[in-house]
Amino acid sequence: MTQSLLPLSGPEIKTEAHQWDPLIRSERFPNIWCPGCGIGIVLSSYINAVQKSSLPPEKHVCISGIGCTGRVAGYLNLDSYHTTHGRGIAFATGMSVIRPDLEITVIAGDGDLSTIGGNHLIHAARRNADLNVIMVNNLNYGMTGGQHGATTPLGARTHTSPYGNVESPFNLPYLVSAAGASFVARWTTIHVRQLFRAIRHMMEIEGFAFLEVVSPCPPTFGEFNNYPEALDMMKYFRDKSVVDDNADLRDMTITARPEDPLVVGNFVDRRRPSYQELLSGLLEKSSEKSVRGGAKK
Ligand code: SF4
Repeated sequence: MTQSLLPLSGPEIKTEAHQWDPLIRSERFPNIWCPGCGIGIVLSSYINAVQKSSLPPEKHVCISGIGCTGRVAGYLNLDSYHTTHGRGIAFATGMSVIRPDLEITVIAGDGDLSTIGGNHLIHAARRNADLNVIMVNNLNYGMTGGQHGATTPLGARTHTSPYGNVESPFNLPYLVSAAGASFVARWTTIHVRQLFRAIRHMMEIEGFAFLEVVSPCPPTFGEFNNYPEALDMMKYFRDKSVVDDNADLRDMTITARPEDPLVVGNFVDRRRPSYQELLSGLLEKSSEKSVRGGAKK
């Protein structure tokens, strides 16, 4: 369907309806993201995966935290929750225990999920909570102007590390895998098909599924580290990404050295009982016990 919008002045603008429109709150657009930001690619990959999943949209829930990526929840025409800083996974875990029928996805930034909320990340992976967690990793705190965080590469420059970051970053695939996640992947915003496929797969499996999406942030991290234009970091992703599903996770730390590869892939895909499965098994046992106890009386 073609719609005509009549602006107060200037030429008539024609827009085409898109198959994803029902899942977007277009009345909230234009969005807040900077030109060249990668979050829109993550949002569209998620929407595409929701539309093609085996569950209807009303069974999908998106939970976000604070920061640029946190705005995703507000643009989705789904049940979505914009929670407090770093607490999206805790909120999602509680919801998934009460409503195991829902497909719950947390979408938030690296500052939110791995720095402010790092403890929730490792403990949800340890429990193997049945959640999909998509972390948009722009390697710094973007919204607040570009401070270093737990993912900023050693030596990278930010507003709070103008002479180079002296703190070693988390190697997230290694960390989350070691904590016990069922699925662990890393892609960049240039890997649009792989992102879609990874998110679809995460929706199909039980247990903690973690996807790190390395994403450009031109006005903060990019400006400080020689990727100032929207396309600079995308070119870096194109030239330096090496797909290796069997990579040694100990060597996955993202560095600031342009000569180092950026290893991407679906690294971990294994099965162990999820937190929700173990909990529901316990509940069944305790209700059988109380029925037997009642029959004895
Ligand atoms: S500051 Fe960075 S992460 Fe935030 S909207 Fe701009 S480009 Fe995206």
